[in-house]
Amino acid sequence: MRMSKLLMPTLREVPAEAEIASHQLMLRAAMMRKVAAGIYTYLPLGFRVLQKITQIVREEMDAAGGQEVLLPIIQPAELWHETGRWDDYGEEMFKLSDRNDRQFCLGPTHEEIITALVRNEVRSYRQLPLMLYQIQNKYRDEIRPRFGVMRGREFIMKDLYSFDRDEEGLDKSYWAMFHAYERVFARCGLNFRPVEADPGAIGGNQTHEFMAIADAGEAEIVYCSTCDYAANVEKARCLTPPAEPTGREDQLAEVATPGVKTIEELEKFFNRPASEMMKTLIYRGGEQVVAAVLRGDHEVNEIKLARAVGCLEVELADDETIERVTGAPRGFAGPVGLKNCKIIADPAVMNIESGITGGNKVDVHLQGVKPGRDFVPDMVIDIRKAQPGDPCPCGKGILQGARGIEVGQVFKLGTKYSKPLGATFADEDGVERPLIMGCYGIGISRTMAAIIEQYHDEHGICWPVSVAPYHVDVVPVNYRDEQQRTAAERVYAELTAAGVEAVIDDRDERPGVKFKDADLIGFPIRITVGPRGLAEGQVEVRWRATGEEYLISLNEVVSHVQDRIASAIAESKRRCKG
Ligand code: ATP
Ligand code: MG
Repeated sequence: MRMSKLLMPTLREVPAEAEIASHQLMLRAAMMRKVAAGIYTYLPLGFRVLQKITQIVREEMDAAGGQEVLLPIIQPAELWHETGRWDDYGEEMFKLSDRNDRQFCLGPTHEEIITALVRNEVRSYRQLPLMLYQIQNKYRDEIRPRFGVMRGREFIMKDLYSFDRDEEGLDKSYWAMFHAYERVFARCGLNFRPVEADPGAIGGNQTHEFMAIADAGEAEIVYCSTCDYAANVEKARCLTPPAEPTGREDQLAEVATPGVKTIEELEKFFNRPASEMMKTLIYRGGEQVVAAVLRGDHEVNEIKLARAVGCLEVELADDETIERVTGAPRGFAGPVGLKNCKIIADPAVMNIESGITGGNKVDVHLQGVKPGRDFVPDMVIDIRKAQPGDPCPCGKGILQGARGIEVGQVFKLGTKYSKPLGATFADEDGVERPLIMGCYGIGISRTMAAIIEQYHDEHGICWPVSVAPYHVDVVPVNYRDEQQRTAAERVYAELTAAGVEAVIDDRDERPGVKFKDADLIGFPIRITVGPRGLAEGQVEVRWRATGEEYLISLNEVVSHVQDRIASAIAESKRRCKG
């Protein structure tokens, strides 16, 4: 490709609307342009990167037994009514109607469509297992589209669906996909971790999210310093810290605490650590009101709490509800003497021998509170958010914290869609059974942004070879100089003939401009053709990521570069073996 012809409007300034590096760089390096909130056009360079990622995904899905199909973006409402999701999916669904007022949506996901296909086309256990996938645009009217393509309203996803005859088959499909995902993200060069995630309040199904480790990530994860355990904090199991008996047997007593509110203020006032406080949060979950009691130094995990309550979501109660159950305004709740609400305590609370809690009266706290004696929880269950420094559930290591970008997810669905849609197969005895399903998504466009988060510096993007838009940028320092032009054109022509993806910077620009663009766009290799090297029959090879730089003869440069690219790609594939 000739840069003089390439549509690559790079930007020198950092666009004001872009907060994180990948968003800024995708705009500056001419990968994409915004059309509307969360909706983007990919320019030639950006589209090439997407195609590279797509191809890696396709190869690994095929290798794992997937068959590629293409499902429609526009989906009829009737199918979504069959699963009840037309109403349940919520505001994120883009809905539309045709000229006859028939309703449709723009596919946010494709379980309905694929299950309906399979219910019509698959009859027998002999056709199983089956894995079908597609790579296509998805539409979700996200409340807060942000960070460029990281959270778009139109984005590209690979979604694969597996169909098995039983749980054992599903388990095989699940782990085959899990390992295929490991290969995909390793080949993309990502530093990532599969983490245990919460499958949602209903069902005890298994799911893992694949997290690209990056500070810009929206997810909080914890992982063990010694074992393989890693989990989204939404899901991470918490061990109960061991009891440290103090032998204290204090009397329950009221203490006037005017103006003392926060845990820090209480620590000062009572001169006791937060681990001896019990904080009480009043929540509403469906029709129920519950009091969640945790240690003062712990945070509530609302997903665990919702599960304990047995509903989809919980939210903090309003002032009126708080007054009704505690008898006091917001800020003074405690578990002693609570009426009209269930008390759910975290196990760590039960180890406190003499605690401090709110007194359910204005400006009053209780001290000497002993769980079990002064209040009896209706339920003692893990409702706390794991935090770095906690012991790992393995019992040996300590949990470390990190932020992650969810680039993919694998999910055991079971019969969640096959049952309502009536997708069955006949087993050996001719008995009709529901298909056992799994679904597996990769955010292709989000993966592109995640790679940039991990591969950039102050000058621009540093693409891993496996996903770079082009591998080599041939830069004649002065294209008007005949000797330089001839040599550069020769290198470019030979590279192209050898199958190396190359561009030549044949623009009539100062070398500084060309070098800046090369660094910004992030071609892995720059070959500079300048007067000094040429005098010795040499050109300069420079690696973007490492800054490695050396002279090499014009005659050898093509085979040298070709070899190093081939070995970089081979290396990216090797990394994921085993
Ligand atoms: P999130 O929690 O980030 O909203 P999700 O769990 O709803 O994502 P899935 O339904 O699991 O998303 O979709 C599969 C993959 O698609 C995700 O792992 C992610 O990589 C990608 N993805 C989901 N939503 C978006 C979006 N709005 N923009 C870009 N990629 C997305
Ligand atoms: Mg997900």
